[in-house]
Amino acid sequence: MTPEPVAVHQCGCLVCQASTDPAIVRQHAGINLLLSRLTEPQRRWYVASLSQGPHAPSDRQLARITGLHPETIRRGRAELAAGLPDLAAGRQRQPGGGRPAAEKKIRP
Ligand SMILES: [Zn+2]
Repeated sequence: MTPEPVAVHQCGCLVCQASTDPAIVRQHAGINLLLSRLTEPQRRWYVASLSQGPHAPSDRQLARITGLHPETIRRGRAELAAGLPDLAAGRQRQPGGGRPAAEKKIRP
């Protein structure tokens, strides 16, 4: 038997619940489809990157869309800001004396 693919998270945002905006529904479905194919670190980095745009949704909103915890999104953002240090599975990064300042770099 082949392993079952990871289920695609169903967006829980109000727009998708009420299907009021097809463009938003499509966008959120696309995000969740992509997330279902990523590894766990890649998922939080991707959602963290979504949280950094000029019109980015809040962590709470992204949590509703993706099913990730807001804390996981914050952690992904910190890792992005640190330049994605090589995180071996099961290894925890030492919480050093202060995190590096987050760059305000907007990626297209
Ligand atoms: Zn949605």
